[in-house]
Amino acid sequence: MTVSGDLKQLYYSETLAHNSMTTTHTSVCCGFCGLLCDDLTLEEQGGVLQVTAAGCARASSAFARVSGATDAQRSPRIKGHPTDLPTAIAAAAKILAGSQLPLFAGLGTDIHGMRGLMDLADHCGAVLDHMNATAKFRNILTVQGYGWVTTTFSEVRNRADLIVVMGSDVASRFPRFYERLVWPAEALFVPDLSQRKIVSVGTAQTAAAQSPEGVTPHHIPCGNADLPDVLAALRARFNGQGLAVTEVAGVPVSALDELAQQIREAQYAVLVWVAPDLDFPQAELTTQMIAGLLGDINQKTRAAGLPLGGNDGDFSADAVLIWQSGFPFRTSLASGKPDYNPHLYDTEGLLERDEADALLWVSSLDSRDARPETKVPTVVLADAGMPVDDDVAVWIPVATPGVDCEGHLFRGDKILALPLRAVIDTGLPTIKVVAQGILKQLESA
Ligand code: SF4
Repeated sequence: MTVSGDLKQLYYSETLAHNSMTTTHTSVCCGFCGLLCDDLTLEEQGGVLQVTAAGCARASSAFARVSGATDAQRSPRIKGHPTDLPTAIAAAAKILAGSQLPLFAGLGTDIHGMRGLMDLADHCGAVLDHMNATAKFRNILTVQGYGWVTTTFSEVRNRADLIVVMGSDVASRFPRFYERLVWPAEALFVPDLSQRKIVSVGTAQTAAAQSPEGVTPHHIPCGNADLPDVLAALRARFNGQGLAVTEVAGVPVSALDELAQQIREAQYAVLVWVAPDLDFPQAELTTQMIAGLLGDINQKTRAAGLPLGGNDGDFSADAVLIWQSGFPFRTSLASGKPDYNPHLYDTEGLLERDEADALLWVSSLDSRDARPETKVPTVVLADAGMPVDDDVAVWIPVATPGVDCEGHLFRGDKILALPLRAVIDTGLPTIKVVAQGILKQLESA
């Protein structure tokens, strides 16, 4: 066997057992959150997938929903009327051809889908914005202004002896975070995992954060909007500075002293946060404080941040946009060259100000309908599990990477892209195929 054949077998070691009714797929990679767990076992019966090992409630529901879509859900529609794919593509091309400023938003897709959308956006002079961009700017603005030290899933799993979670339960957005990274069966450089300490600041943790021995993480409660103040006080105490108060936003300074001491004593502390959970005005002050604290800690010992992301393909779409244009989300190609402006080119603002006159909404990795309300002509490219809206001008169901088409997604630590394989064949087109079809129509017009 060739080397590439070996690799292919590694990645695609699937479909182990058949009987007349059921097919079993092993080592399936799940793209329904940024953890990209690659250990799932699925059983397929009549084309419908059921997670039978190593999944979570979100994965179970997503695989079942996408694979169990009806023929009607898999049919393209024009204003609610079923049509065929070429007619839907032609209708979408007509909307984009008549637009002065098309907005490509949502962008819930993988690397290949985003490449196809970039070619189309380049031709149309579109603005590109992701459905998670508002949350991601809480991180991006801090990276642009200050920089930070971050780490990987492997480092967290194998080295961290203190994990401090800021303002999130983590598990509601990354369901197997604790199972896979915090409480694995073993870790390379933490001989006794029961000694791993978990502290949560802000939101209380869920039961998923409990250690296998039943130890609940230490919790320092405060409102998430108070995190900038609380973290500023923690930073001051870590650096030995005095405070003229005994509590900050209801948090006793003694509790912050205790946490500062735990950080000093740790060999490898990791500060974890989930930007969408920091949903309050000027939330980037929190990430700035975390970045500053990481800098302070690394003067004395070792620590790193883990800004979890990757849901809805946000890291993947952003990576392609940066590779090809040099800029992240909220970049306009209207002038013929990339123009990045996080304040001018946000989806809601462009629609509210009546600047965008057509919307291409893309969501192939999560069936929730997160579209903004708008009256502009809209083309939707959505996975077949999303409830159909008959008011939409053109609705094209597309394949979902990791379910009914292959794909590549960046993992939630942004360190590598993992391949996802097609587990079933529904015949639905990929986003790249639809984007190329629309582009071909526009070029031949
Ligand atoms: S934690 Fe995320 S990647 Fe892992 S199985 Fe659940 S939804 Fe899929």
